[in-house]
Amino acid sequence: MSKTATRTMTSCSACGSPKFNRTRILEHEDTVLGYPVMLHDGVDLIDCLNCDHIAIFIPDMPGLIATVAASRLMMGEKLNGRELQLIRKSTGLKAVDLAQKLDVTPETVSRWENNKEPMRHEAERSLRLKVLNILSTRTHVFREDYEALIALDINPIRPGKWPLMHFHRVKVRDVDKRNVEPQWETALAA
Ligand SMILES: [Zn+2]
Repeated sequence: MSKTATRTMTSCSACGSPKFNRTRILEHEDTVLGYPVMLHDGVDLIDCLNCDHIAIFIPDMPGLIATVAASRLMMGEKLNGRELQLIRKSTGLKAVDLAQKLDVTPETVSRWENNKEPMRHEAERSLRLKVLNILSTRTHVFREDYEALIALDINPIRPGKWPLMHFHRVKVRDVDKRNVEPQWETALAA
């Protein structure tokens, strides 16, 4: 379990004062990896008592990004080039490393990401599995659902804007079953 998962804010980011009011926001709308997201009951409004600075505190951003990416990879709509690039970068994987994992040339990955060549379904399925495997160390979402992914039908690219994806915080027992920690999880649409 990474330290970031339990990190809490201890001082104002503007003046450093440890005195602030903290209020839970029931629904916070934001954009993560280019997708509109609604974050339920996990984000705090921080109101500094010293300098009046107001900020939004989203806990465990790396975990949230991984959960959003994993959720997207489990959806059937074909990835467009921009989505592929944003999701790849969020894993820290370089284009050349992804190419090697998929046994294609870096130029091919570049053409996929620039929408110059569509990914074949088999390549996309393999890509999704490999990226999800990397993400599984950062999010518990779909960790044991690889079979569903293998069976996933890949449909045409979704035209237009994505609908809101919903996420909330749940307590999850870690792999060693020692700690129960809050993590981001996909929620059904409210
Ligand atoms: Zn302050």
